[in-house]
Amino acid sequence: MSNVALGNHILVEFMNCDPHIMNDVAAIERDMVAAAQKAKATVINSTFHHFSPYGVSGVVVIQESHLAIHTWPEYGYAAVDLFTCGEMDAWISFDYLKEAFKSKSYSAIEMRRGSVNLLTRNDFDMTTMREKAAEWRNPDFYTRNVWFTDKDEDQALSLRFTGEVFFDVQSPYQRVRILESTKYGKMLALDDMVMTTINDEFHYHEMISHPAMFAHGNAKNVLVIGGGDGGTVREILRHEGVEKVTMVEIDGEVITACKEHLPEIAASFDHPKLDLKVDDGIAFIKTAAPESYDIIIVDGSDPVGPAEGLFSVEFYTNCYNALKKDGILIAQGESPKFNEKAFSELNHTLQDIFGADNAPVSLFYVPTYPTGMWSFQYGIKGDKHPKRVSNETEMDAFADKNGLRYYNSEIHKGSFATPNFVKQLIKK
Ligand code: SAM
Repeated sequence: MSNVALGNHILVEFMNCDPHIMNDVAAIERDMVAAAQKAKATVINSTFHHFSPYGVSGVVVIQESHLAIHTWPEYGYAAVDLFTCGEMDAWISFDYLKEAFKSKSYSAIEMRRGSVNLLTRNDFDMTTMREKAAEWRNPDFYTRNVWFTDKDEDQALSLRFTGEVFFDVQSPYQRVRILESTKYGKMLALDDMVMTTINDEFHYHEMISHPAMFAHGNAKNVLVIGGGDGGTVREILRHEGVEKVTMVEIDGEVITACKEHLPEIAASFDHPKLDLKVDDGIAFIKTAAPESYDIIIVDGSDPVGPAEGLFSVEFYTNCYNALKKDGILIAQGESPKFNEKAFSELNHTLQDIFGADNAPVSLFYVPTYPTGMWSFQYGIKGDKHPKRVSNETEMDAFADKNGLRYYNSEIHKGSFATPNFVKQLIKK
């Protein structure tokens, strides 16, 4: 009685692993592929997914079967399957992963799978099939499916990325990463939220800057709070009439990452009119001179971590005081379809401070933000209202001259057209 088996299965419990590694989809994908290659396997493709807030699942399909993993970073634990057939020694992959995951304890069970005694063989000509497979197989090439997911408990946006990580630093405020998505190019992620990508950043940066600049018509002194990727100041500095732009970004690592890896967005950090400060915008605006800015732009991240305070009544009251009599405030306003609560609460705060008719909402689309529907919310201190503009010709001439790809006079006016469900959300 032969005890030939078709496959060999090692079930591994890796315990006391480094929790950060257990939550790093790019590192785990890289290590799992390397573990297969170390054991001389031929990798066909890899598919890995990061779950928010934590956990990674993935599989590396190899000519010799597969290696699979699911992690629980909160326990420093990874369940790994090393299923192989043929000559491959999967214990080599086991040793590699034990080191890579910094696993301090583990258990492993090895079992033979598919005992031929229990199986009936069907005759078909394997040789031609193998030869055919060998013809198209290119050992150096395999398809990688590594997914980055930005989600809340009900909905998610997943972007496939190449697995390459160009920058990955845990700053005192957040995890700053530069990744490369296959469709939208290089992107900045803070913690697990997409901040900006090379291929759709212009949607956001043109709409956070130009509507207010044309509504004001003569802005000289502009304050930007946040905006560490540099896209907002790049757009503001296209307006020759501007004399000074002050940018207050809390996290120097964001500026460094974007200068190095997103130079098209971080193009104006050395502009002579820019006063770039690494500081907390909440503290900065508290001590800002009254009535000193024509325009204040709050280009902050979502209301968590360092940006939580950028959604407070106190912060916007300080912004109001720092604006000149005919000043305009614009704030990254979240989405009426993703975080409705933050969206409507922000607008109610702006209505309380600037007046019910002076807190308009501008809607626009960013494909790489969950739901794609996003907003900027305004506070109009004087009468320079973005909905009441008459300089369309100037807007379109400026858009043409600067090669803008989103903003024009129609989009300016159209963005303030508010669907009824949004009117409901901001109704007080
Ligand atoms: N487009 C993005 C969005 O919609 O979420 C925002 C982009 S921008 C990168 C957000 C910036 O705000 C980040 O660089 C973050 O570090 C910065 N930030 C967060 N809280 C801040 C604070 N209290 N003061 C200054 N900058 C802050």
